[in-house]
Parts: sequence; structure tokens; C-alpha cells
Amino acid sequence: ATEIRLASRPHGVPTMDNFDIVETAVPKPGPGEILVRNVVMSVDPAMRGRMNDVKSYSPPFVVGEAMQGGAVGEVIESTVDDFAVGDHVLHQAGWRTHAVLDAKRAVKVDDSVAPLSTYLGVLGMPGLTAYAGLLVSAEFKPGDTVFVSGAAGAVGSLVGQLARLKGAKRVIGSAGSAEKVRHLIEDLGFDAAFNYKDGPVAEQLAAAAPEGIDVYFDNVGGEHLEAAIASMNLHGRIAICGMISQYNATEPTPAPRNLVQLIAKRITMRGLLVLDHWHLMQEFVAEVAPLVASGEIKYSETFVDGIRNAPEAFLGLLSGANTGKMLVRLSS
Ligand code: NDP
Repeated sequence: ATEIRLASRPHGVPTMDNFDIVETAVPKPGPGEILVRNVVMSVDPAMRGRMNDVKSYSPPFVVGEAMQGGAVGEVIESTVDDFAVGDHVLHQAGWRTHAVLDAKRAVKVDDSVAPLSTYLGVLGMPGLTAYAGLLVSAEFKPGDTVFVSGAAGAVGSLVGQLARLKGAKRVIGSAGSAEKVRHLIEDLGFDAAFNYKDGPVAEQLAAAAPEGIDVYFDNVGGEHLEAAIASMNLHGRIAICGMISQYNATEPTPAPRNLVQLIAKRITMRGLLVLDHWHLMQEFVAEVAPLVASGEIKYSETFVDGIRNAPEAFLGLLSGANTGKMLVRLSS
């Protein structure tokens, strides 16, 4: 078995030195436990926060111990009636090839219903984030003009497509390459998109949204958030989902400098944590899975192969190497 441990805490952008790749014995399940061989694991931006020694909604990773995160695996040994060898389960013991789990902490998933990888992406946690963030946190309503940053990523790509399908007047996305901008417009049906690296976000957003925006779904923070406030219409709503432009910052970051505009524009800005919306999972899957199956909602996945390349996949996620969900394939 192989596992990835946190070797040290990063200062700024993480490097390969922050990870240890360690060979271990395959663990044995005790009573009430199952042994799982992981098939696919997720790398998520929130893992950057857990590399810091800071209290947050999920505890920091421990230096010298295996990291954690969403994964789907196959049961190869079971001591409980609920799980049989060959079952697939979703769980939180990623970053390793083999995991012993308390059976109560594993959720059965079915690859005849949807590909196993989608339980970590479009039909899983990132998908629910997009759904709850747009509909609950941002209080989206038909006729709204919606701007989403990180638009070619796992969360952002679904936000934009849901807004379009639910009757947005105009959907605008930003992403970090010309190819991602093309993908947003041509493949995902965004009305407008721009590469935030091409020039000031405020100018590019104002040009893409001449009549302003009503909803901003923030995955990036900083300059993007400032630009969104500047383009916001009266009674606009901002869902703060992520601020990935700041996760590697070593100093406090300045923008947005225009928060005073919240007053005259009566803007609502609301933090969003997907864990608060877990009760919507069934409703979300019931609504979105058929749209994914029919192709009305498209999703992309970027796969990196092999547990030893998981750190590289994570570093790639932070620098935009992914389109759609970034995943590590451990075996097929
Ligand atoms: P993505 O699939 O969107 O991957 C991250 C993307 O961020 C990269 O592909 C890259 O794309 C972009 N990025 C990296 N650095 C910057 C930067 N400096 N400025 C702008 N964009 C940057 O990840 P997820 O969909 O999983 O997550 C998206 C956001 O949602 C993150 O901020 C994450 O923390 C947050 N999140 C929050 C949750 C919650 O409960 N609040 C739950 C899940 C996710 P590009 O090429 O465009 O730069």
C-alpha cells in the first residue's frame, strides 16, 4: 500500500517537499470496519487550507500523517453485513491506495447509475456547492445576470450551466486561459467569458456585462470580488464560495477596496459552506443527474494517474492545470 503524508507545512505556494510518499503494509479491518482499495480520489482547493496549522471548519492535516479527502474505493474485505466485497463506497480516506474505514463512515455508490468519478465532482460535493450556492446563498432568480469566477473549474462550470438552464438573462465567466474561455462559450453555453490574465478584471467584466450583474458567485476573491462589486446592480447578491487567489498569500490581501458600494447598491454578500446544505443532496442529485445523463449539463474531468502523482495533481489544481474536476485515478 502507498500513502501520501504531509511532510511539512507550506509557506506560500506548496512544493513537492511538503509531501512524503510512503510505502505501508495493507491495513487489516477490525470489527465494524471495511478494507477499501481506492479507485479514484479528489484533490480540492480546501486542502490548501488544511495544510496550514489553523482552526477552520475542518481540522488541519497532521504533519507526519496521511492526508485526507474524498475518494471512491472498492471494498476488498468486509466485517459487516451492509457492505460486500466488490461494493463501491464514497468516503474521506483519500491520499492512499488502501484504507480501513468504520463502515458507518462509508456511503455506497453505484457505477451503473453514474461513473464513480462523478460522485467526487459534478454529482458530489462540488456539484452541491454550485447548486446550493447559486440557489440558496445567492438567491438566484430567473432574469438575473450571473457572473462566476473560476468558471472552468468543478464548481464554477456547474454554476454557469445551472444559471443558464434556470433562466438567467446573461451568464458570464472568467478563467485563466484562452482555451478555457473558448470552452465556456462554445461547450458550456456561457454568453460571455474572459481570461482574467488578459487585463484588469474590472474592465473585462464591465465590457462583458454592459448592463451590470445581479449575482456574483465568487470562487477567487481579491481583484475579482472588487470588480464584481463595481459591476453590481441594485440589490445584487454575492455568494462567497472560495477565494483561491488568496490561499497561498503570506501577507493580508488588500482588495476589495470598494466595499462602501454595498450601501448604496444594497448588496447582500453571504458566505457559503457546502456542509450546511448537505440536506439538499438528494434534491440536487434528483434534479441534476438526469440533466447530466442527457448531456444538457456537461462536465469535464482532468485525470492524473497514480497515487505517487497525487501531490502533482494538487499543485496543478492550484495553478489551473485542470478543466472541470481534478481527480487522481488510482486503478481502473
Ligand atoms: P476548481 O476546479 O475551480 O480548481 C481551482 C481553479 O482555480 C483552477 O483550475 C484555476 O483555474 C483557478 N485559480 C487558481 N489560482 C487562481 C487565481 N490566483 N486567480 C483566479 N483563479 C485561480 O476547484 P473547485 O471547483 O473544487 O473549487 C472552486 C472554488 O470553490 C475554490 O475557491 C474552493 O475553495 C471553493 N469551494 C468552496 C466550498 C465551500 O463549501 N465553500 C466547497 C467546494 C469548493 P484558472 O485556470 O481559471 O486560473
